[in-house]
Amino acid sequence: MSERTLNEWQAAATALKIDGRAFINGRRCSSSSGEARPTLNPANGETLTNVAYCNAEDANTAIATSRATFESGVWSRMAPTDRKMILVRWAELVEKHSDEIALLETLDVGKPISDTLNVDVGSAVRTIRWSGEAIDKIYDEITPTSSDCLALVTREALGVVAAIVPWNFPLSTTAWKLAPSLATGNSVILKPASNTPLSALRIADLAAEAGLPDGVLHVLPGSGGSLGQHLATHMDIDGMTFTGSTPVGKKLMEYSGQSNLKRTFLELGGKSPNIVFADANLEKAASSAALAVYWNGGQTCTAGTRLIVEESILDDFLARVIEESKAWMPGNPMDPATVMGPMIDAAQCNTVCEYVAIGRAEGAKLVFGGTKTMEGTGGHYHEPTIFAGVSNDMRIAREEIFGPVLSVLSFKTAEEAVEIANDSIYGLAGAVWSRDINTAHKVAAAVRVGTMGINNYFGGDSTVPFGGFKQSGNGRDKSMHAFNDYTELKTTWIEFE
Ligand code: NAP
Ligand code: MG
Repeated sequence: MSERTLNEWQAAATALKIDGRAFINGRRCSSSSGEARPTLNPANGETLTNVAYCNAEDANTAIATSRATFESGVWSRMAPTDRKMILVRWAELVEKHSDEIALLETLDVGKPISDTLNVDVGSAVRTIRWSGEAIDKIYDEITPTSSDCLALVTREALGVVAAIVPWNFPLSTTAWKLAPSLATGNSVILKPASNTPLSALRIADLAAEAGLPDGVLHVLPGSGGSLGQHLATHMDIDGMTFTGSTPVGKKLMEYSGQSNLKRTFLELGGKSPNIVFADANLEKAASSAALAVYWNGGQTCTAGTRLIVEESILDDFLARVIEESKAWMPGNPMDPATVMGPMIDAAQCNTVCEYVAIGRAEGAKLVFGGTKTMEGTGGHYHEPTIFAGVSNDMRIAREEIFGPVLSVLSFKTAEEAVEIANDSIYGLAGAVWSRDINTAHKVAAAVRVGTMGINNYFGGDSTVPFGGFKQSGNGRDKSMHAFNDYTELKTTWIEFE
């Protein structure tokens, strides 16, 4: 674990050589047009470097190379135990370069260095290692047929997979997509978000160093609306895996239908309920409620943005959460003591401000924060913000704000809490706090979400699937279940003479 100070991180940033070229066919290269666009540091608005701006021609090169590599079998038919060794080596290299990759991620995304170091890089390392280690331990099936025949059920890689990822967790979402898709033998083209391409490019270098054959992985920075759409509508891509917003996820389903019905798996937005009963450990629940909404500046798909509190403790609990919120004032992300950094860009910060205005206009009561801060840094920072007296039909309770804004609601009965929780187009995550196992488990079972915490928020690791119900998506990242998104099941039926 790195113990660097702010000054030491700043010195490391000054010394860092950032390579913004694309990664195509095992090498760094410029885009075919030669075009490159800046990627900024959200903490101060400064340009970090220019990044290759790839277009359809670059995509076609990567797709043709991926197809040829897949057909050649150099990776797709490599023994799983050998693929495992390369992925495990890759995880080790990412771990060895933890400081550098965490720094890149902090510079490019504005996330606090203590998070990128301890959470994002760690999650990437564990997921790559876990998928690699799992792949030579999965057995196929022989089905219960009569004795004159034998039926095999085997898994086959899809072929060429495109992965499109967002800017809020660039490194970990990249790893969550690449680890299982590569482990199962696919060739993969990754398009990072325009705002945050750097960590994906850097770990691609390390994949090559670990022995991943050329042509199996490509990282193409470029625009979602052009390069992303080109990939999603391409007839020679077999699978699409996506993490991002629900509106773009809907487009990807349409693109799939308009093109070749490529398998399309989506991890989308959320408006997650965090339900607190009067008998909970209120101290722990309050500090966790603040973490649930403010972590990563609220730019978290699973953020616990609807705090639903039993009426009898509402005032007391709200006071506790307000107290906890004071510890979440934003700061310089390069400072190891900072817990919340800037918003990704001016547009996102303005969206947050607009929702604060909407909440006020809707009649919710602003009880904490509510404004931009640290103006003059060149970054776009927003205070942790709380609205009380929210009803679930207000826009601030229904729409994903993607900023540090908490909406507080109340309930009288467990049934009412569940009803409020489920009254949402989303179903990504949630939590319930109670010391009564009956209440906690009944509520957890009734809330329609992909991940539910009991007396914790943000629980999970590489061993459990991650994904959404309803308009929060359909695929599952992490765990053995992720392999389903990147494979087809084949039946082979053999008859004996
Ligand atoms: P976004 O606008 O949907 O963008 C995500 C990615 O899609 C980016 O790489 C973007 O490229 C690309 N894209 C945009 N339009 C496209 C199109 N027409 N065709 C193909 N690709 C296109 O989402 P975001 O603002 O980056 O990320 C925030 C969203 O992600 C939130 O809704 C959040 O909840 C969700 N999210 C979900 C999960 C999960 O696991 N469920 C995890 C993290 C985030 P550009 O960058 O060039 O626009
Ligand atoms: Mg976007």
